[in-house]
Formats: sequence, structure tokens, C-alpha cells
Amino acid sequence: MRPEHETPPDFMRWEELSSLVGSIRTRSLVARPTTVDQCREALAYSRRNGMTVCVRGAGRTYGDLALNDGHVLLDMSGMNRILSFDEDAAQITVQSGTRLIDIYQHVHHRLLFLGASPTESHSSVAGAICANVNGKEGWHHGSFAHQVVGLKLLLAGGEILDIDRSHELFNAVVGGIGMLGVILEATLQLKPVPSPYVRVDRIPASNVDALLEALAEVEKSYDAAVVWIDAYARGSRIGRSVIHAAKWLERDDTDAERKAYLEAGYERLDKHRRFGLALHEKVGPVLSLMLQAQRLMMNTFNRLYYAMSRVTYRAGRSSNSELFLRFAFEASFTVPPAHLVCGPRGYTVQLTFPRADARAAIVELLEICQASPCPPVTTILRAHKADDCLISFSEDGYSLNFEFHPKPRHEAASRAAIDRLIDATVKRGGKIHLAKDQVLRPEQFHRVYPRYRELLEIKARLDPEGLFTSDLARRVGIDPARLAEEGA
Ligand SMILES: Cc1cc2nc3c(=O)[nH]c(=O)nc-3n(C[C@H](O)[C@H](O)[C@H](O)COP(=O)(O)OP(=O)(O)OC[C@H]3O[C@@H](n4cnc5c(N)ncnc54)[C@H](O)[C@@H]3O)c2cc1C
Repeated sequence: MRPEHETPPDFMRWEELSSLVGSIRTRSLVARPTTVDQCREALAYSRRNGMTVCVRGAGRTYGDLALNDGHVLLDMSGMNRILSFDEDAAQITVQSGTRLIDIYQHVHHRLLFLGASPTESHSSVAGAICANVNGKEGWHHGSFAHQVVGLKLLLAGGEILDIDRSHELFNAVVGGIGMLGVILEATLQLKPVPSPYVRVDRIPASNVDALLEALAEVEKSYDAAVVWIDAYARGSRIGRSVIHAAKWLERDDTDAERKAYLEAGYERLDKHRRFGLALHEKVGPVLSLMLQAQRLMMNTFNRLYYAMSRVTYRAGRSSNSELFLRFAFEASFTVPPAHLVCGPRGYTVQLTFPRADARAAIVELLEICQASPCPPVTTILRAHKADDCLISFSEDGYSLNFEFHPKPRHEAASRAAIDRLIDATVKRGGKIHLAKDQVLRPEQFHRVYPRYRELLEIKARLDPEGLFTSDLARRVGIDPARLAEEGA
């Protein structure tokens, strides 16, 4: 505690926190409320002591979006109860700290699923709302914004607003990166499914043209998809990839059978997740060393993986049925957990581009990566659909997600490549996903999200003292004072 601060309440204490890949380290006064009154108490304490507040869900954002160095973090993970479930309307109301996997455990055996769930199953509902996350079926169900029926928002002054889809604030709060208040609870729309199983087909594409042609078919006849791309393939092979496409399966299991195999599925997922985290702790530094030879290692791995996929596809052995849980949430060796592949100085960048310009965008973005001394370790493509949020990453098009593991001596050159990627994205009206960002500079952010001014105008009304912020907001210049300066 700093000497000038009054003693905080029992549920608040100073802690060290770092970003997901460990490259950003901070110290914050962390509040862990379990009631709305405690949330209000933490906000009042922060105001009295001249501190800002960053609301945090599960803290599974990659960069500094849920960090607030030297100030207060309002950790909502203890407010995680399921409040009501209306099976007929397929709607569930939960406290904001509820994890997505907890919702699956409540509803999936009843043949319902939650669209737009990110691969991180431990993301909280409010974290998913504020970062407007996406799943693997984005072109069907859109981003998380499309799944939200309504929410309750606690304002800086203590008032609680009920915000449904018709409310003027809906598109500002959803995707609003926690800048307007504390989400206390939310009601989500679930979707029916024929069974918890999907058939997964792995479809190789020899280059960008084959990829876009195959994707157009996949988008018509499959329910979810994610594309692994070989970022090292050049020339006529650029865009060489393997589409992992999933389609819900009909099955006639009994309730008891469904519950039993789903229970085993949750256990497997939990083990797999804990193994990934432990691996990061134990072999992260070794992996980081191995990735010093990444050009050789990744190039060889990618060639082998693509060749193997073609052989199994031609032999008719590239399909299997598996739980959607596994397809949606389990990291695999082609899509390893980010903290393993980014290393201590690494970062993830996810950029969107419109469908109409997809070929040129994919080629340009991959060529920029190839010209960099440290091309991405993994490259993933997904399809999306637009929404109306002020700060929205989603659009009618695709995104490329790159995971970079730059060597110390190449940091400046890698940064220059990132700036070129961002320029190429802005030129096409594309966006950068803030949930994964740790590289955007203010002038880049302002070009990527020009509607941030509307967010700030709303913030000036709801949070005139600028209580809610984050390290990311400060880094990219989401600053109410700037709006006043621009207006002057
Ligand atoms: C392995 C891995 C895979 C991932 N895969 C995907 C993916 O497929 N698609 C995707 O889009 N993202 C993905 N992500 C990113 C992740 O899903 C998002 O960052 C998500 O926001 C994390 O949720 P959280 O609860 O941890 O939020 P946090 O990181 O805690 O916070 C995220 C934002 O929400 C705000 N916030 C949180 N709770 C509240 C609240 N109660 N009230 C107001 N504001 C609040 C925070 O201030 C912050 O701005 C992945 C992350 C990991 C680690």
C-alpha cells in the first residue's frame, strides 16, 4: 500500500500480475468482490484515493487489456453464479464472472450451445462481451455481441442500468473493453444442436485460390471451421492450408449417455488445459530456445503437416467424429496455446479484412510476414460476420491470426513488419482484435477504430471522472482529455 492511500477493505490487496505470455508485469490493488455492494465499495474507495479501475473477468486476454498498473483491478471472477435458465426460450442469465465452460456444463447435455465461444473456455461472460470475442462459426452466428440478449451495468456513480439490444448503449458496452462500467450480469441466447458431436473434415488447399474456393463451399455446408495456414509457402503455393471444418451430427443417445460422455469430455478438456499451462511453465524457456531456429523448424513442420494432410485426404481418412467441446476448445499441435508459441517477448496479432478483397489481403499479409526475419510460428484464418458495435473487430470477411516469437536481435525488424501488417489492414478498412493486442500505437488505434470518439462521448456522460480504464486504453490513447482537446 502506498502511504497516501487509506487502508483498503478486506477484499482488496496489492498483487503482482503479468500478461498471458508474461512479457508485461504489473502491480495492482486487486479487489475480489462477491456482492454488488462490494463492487460499489471498491469503486468508492478508488475514487476517494485518486485511483482508476480496470474491471477484470478471468484475465485471459493476451496483452494489457485487463491490466491496470499501480491502480485498482476489480476482479469479477467470484461473481459467477448461474441466475436463471429458460429452456423453452433457450436463454440463460448469469453473473458476469461465470466462465463459458460453466455455461456449457449447464446446457450442452440439453442439446444447446453458446455461439461465438473463443478457444479459451475459461473466458468469463463479461470478458467475452467486452472484447466481443469470436468462435469458429463466426460467419453463421457472428461475434459474441450477437449472443447477448441484455445485461446489467453498474456505473461509476453506483447506479445500475438495464441494457437490452434496443438500448442506445448496447453497441457501446458490448465490445466497449470495459470503459463504461461494471457488467454485473448478462442474459445470453443459446442455440439448439442435434447432438454434442460434430464430424470434422480436414480439407487441404494447395494455395490461396484453392483455399478461397474450398472455403466458399465450407461456409455453405458446414457449421464451424478454422484454417491452419503454412505462412512459409511462397509464390504459386502461397496460402497453402488445411481447413478443419465441422458439421453437427445427428445421434439418438439417451440423456444419461449424453451426460456421461460429456462429463468425460469436460474432464479431458480440463486435463488437457492444465497440461498446456504446466508445459508452458516447465518447458517455455526450452521451447523459446528451440524457436530460435524457427525458420528451419516451422518450415519443415509445415511441409510435413501439409503433405500428411493431403495423403490422408486422398485416402479418404481425413474425417472423424468428436465432441464439439474438443473441436471448439482444445488447443492442438497445429494450433498450440499462444503462451507456448509466443515466448517471453512474443505477441499475437489478429487482423480482419473484407471478403471481397480476401485474396489480395491474404497474399499481402503473408508476404509481409515472409519478408520479416521472424515469420509467425502459427497462422490461423477464420470467417466472420459484421455487427454494429462501436469498437468491433468483426466484419463480413476473414481474419488472420499470427503468433510471433521474435528473436531479441530481430525485435526492431519484427516491429517494422507488424507496422506494415497494420497499415495493410487499415488500408482495407480491417480491424485489429484488442483482446490479443499488445502492439497498437495511438495513431494506429485511432485509424483502426475511428468510432472510439463516440465511445468517449458516451464515457464523458456515464463516467465523467474517467474512473474506468486499463493499461491498453492508456497505451492506445483512449483518453477523454484528448476528445476535449480535439473539440477545442
Ligand atoms: C488460449 C486462448 C485462446 C483464445 N481464443 C480466442 C478466440 O478463439 N477468439 C477470441 O475472440 N478470443 C480468444 N481469446 C481471447 C479471450 O477469449 C478474450 O481475451 C476474452 O476477453 C477473455 O475473457 P476474460 O474473462 O479473461 O476477460 P479479461 O481478460 O479479464 O477482460 C477482457 C476485457 O473485458 C473487460 N471486462 C471483464 N469483465 C468485465 C466486467 N464484469 N465488466 C466490465 N468489463 C469487464 C476487461 O476490462 C477487458 O477490457 C483467447 C485467449 C486465450 C488465452
